[in-house]
Amino acid sequence: MQVAETVARARELFAALPRPLGFVPTMGALHAGHLALVRRARERCAGVAASIFVNPLQFGPSEDLATYPRDLEHDRQKLQAAGVDAVFVPDGDAMYPPDFATTVDVGAIATIFEGAIRPGHFRGVTTVIAKLLNIVRPDVLFLGQKDAQQAIVIHRMLVDLNAPVEIDLVPTVREPDGLALSSRNAYLDAQQRAAAPTLHTALLAVRDALRAGRDKSDAIAAGRAVLSASATLEYLDVVDGTTFAPAERLVASAFVIGAARFGPTRLIDNVWFCK
Ligand code: AMP
Repeated sequence: MQVAETVARARELFAALPRPLGFVPTMGALHAGHLALVRRARERCAGVAASIFVNPLQFGPSEDLATYPRDLEHDRQKLQAAGVDAVFVPDGDAMYPPDFATTVDVGAIATIFEGAIRPGHFRGVTTVIAKLLNIVRPDVLFLGQKDAQQAIVIHRMLVDLNAPVEIDLVPTVREPDGLALSSRNAYLDAQQRAAAPTLHTALLAVRDALRAGRDKSDAIAAGRAVLSASATLEYLDVVDGTTFAPAERLVASAFVIGAARFGPTRLIDNVWFCK
C-alpha cells in the first residue's frame, strides 16, 4: 500500500490506480465498520483509495478534536491488510493552508438534527469531502449508513454540483449487543458501555411499534421507554430517506434516527424502516 502525505503526491498515486476507483474517507481509529467499507470497495472496484484525516473543520469549538482517538500506525496496517492500494494521510496545513477561504454549504438539510445540534458540522464535512474528491477523483464513494444524514447531505452536494461520483451506502456494523461500532465508543466507561446498546434497542422499538400500526408519537414513546435512564436523549424521530425531513407518512425509504449522550459521549444511530 502506498502512502501520500501531500496533495501533489496523492494526485500522482491515485491517478495511476486502475478504474473504477473506489474511495473510503475516514478519520482513522479504524474499526470493523470502516473495514466493511473497504471490503465493499474491494469487491466492486479495480482500485481502492482511502484517506485518514481528522478534519478540524467539522468539529465545534467545544467538541473532541484534541482528544479524538488517533492510531496511525495500526490504521495503516489495517488498511493494507484489507486491500487498500493507496492512502492519503494529509496534515492540517496540507488541507487548509493559511489562505484557505472556500467552504461548501448544502442548505437546509444540513441544519436539522445533527446540523442543529452541531452547527457548522456538515459545512466541515462537505468541504473536506469536496476537496478529497478533487484530489482522489474516485468513481465510487463508500459511506456508512451509520452516519445516514452525512451520506444524504453529501449526496445532495454531489447532485447539486454535478459531481460524477456515485455513493455506495454500506450497512452499519454492530457489536453483538447491537451497539453500532464507532471510534467514539472508546470514550465509554463500563457503565456507559453497558447502557449504550439501548440506543439501538430504542430505534428498533420505534420501528416495531410503527410496523404494528401505532402512530408516530406512540411509537416514539415506546422507544424512549426502552432507552437507558442514564442516557440523555437528544432526538428520536422518523425521517424521509431522501430529504431527512421528519416523515409524517411512512415510506419504504424512511429511517428511524436517534442521538443520545452516555456521560459526555454523544452517540448516533439509525435503522431503516423497511429492513
Ligand atoms: P469516520 O472515521 O467516523 O469519519 O467514519 C468514516 C466512514 O466510516 C463514514 O462513512 C462512516 O459512516 C463509516 N462508519 C463509521 N462507523 C461505521 C459502522 N459501524 N458501520 C459502517 N460504517 C461505519
